[in-house]
Amino acid sequence: MSAASMKVAVIGAGTMGNGIAHVFAQSGHSVSLVDVNAAALERAQATIDRNLDRLVAKERITAEDKAATLSRLTTTTEMHGAVSDAELVVEAATERLDLKLKIFEQMDASAPADAILATNTSSISITKIAAATKRPDKVIGMHFMNPVPIMKLVEVIRGYSTSDATTEKVVALSKQLGKVPVEVNDYPGFVANRILMPMINEAICSLHEGVAGVAEIDEVMKLGMAHPMGPLHLADFIGLDVCLSILRVLHDGFGQPKYAPCPLLVNMVTAGKLGVKSGEGFYVHTRGSKEITVAPAFS
Ligand code: NAD
Repeated sequence: MSAASMKVAVIGAGTMGNGIAHVFAQSGHSVSLVDVNAAALERAQATIDRNLDRLVAKERITAEDKAATLSRLTTTTEMHGAVSDAELVVEAATERLDLKLKIFEQMDASAPADAILATNTSSISITKIAAATKRPDKVIGMHFMNPVPIMKLVEVIRGYSTSDATTEKVVALSKQLGKVPVEVNDYPGFVANRILMPMINEAICSLHEGVAGVAEIDEVMKLGMAHPMGPLHLADFIGLDVCLSILRVLHDGFGQPKYAPCPLLVNMVTAGKLGVKSGEGFYVHTRGSKEITVAPAFS
């Protein structure tokens, strides 16, 4: 794997996959973005186009840079072809263990023997995912933050068998992408979500118990704790289904009641209120606009 210009496959073109594909393509790598859902690929392309336009408008890149970035990016619904000549695969599909195990088994069968298989999972054990492959030394967590083109952190998670060589390559690559890698070990939720998700869950419980309204809870945390975004707004941004999945991994992994997801979060996910991606969560969101209003259920 030569860090200069690599063939990269990104599996999953949702909230995170489009940003990961964007960042790799902008840094000079050829990227094949894969999703089982053709509509998700179209949405991802539109998002990448819009985000590159913003960078051009801010004079952070030129129109030629935008065109070159797009020329390095292809999309497909066929994983085998995208992965068969990849030097690195970054999996960013739905946060479900059974799905990730299946995808890693397929990736392992299709990718060249020396390819690194990374996962962007927020919480699932890297060691468990690696066990679905015949190359656990080359499986690693590469946990980007949302929105990927803006956020600097990459949490680099070593599974039980991840080799030093794999870790060193992923750390170097993260730096080449303009990110700051931080190495952590493989425990449920790693560091970022072990700390973030209980806070978000507590904000949802505070709303559920009527301690304060949506806007008030977010305002307290923004003004009082200098958070750039309140926890309920952030939960919408992450995806309430993703928050619920992560809390379940923490709850199952540590076996402690403090990680039990708030019943309101469970209800909202069951009702399809997933936040930004579905248009409504704690707030109502309009695609392409930063304006938000508190959702009717809470106003
Ligand atoms: P998402 O629901 O927005 O997108 C997931 C995508 O995966 C969907 O487009 C879906 O069609 C696709 N998919 C499902 N099965 C697939 C398959 N077999 N092959 C290819 N594509 C498939 O989810 P997301 O928020 O982008 O999360 C993706 C991963 O990134 C999860 O592991 C999540 O925990 C992690 N993550 C999310 C955030 C966040 O803020 N949302 C932040 C960091 C990490």
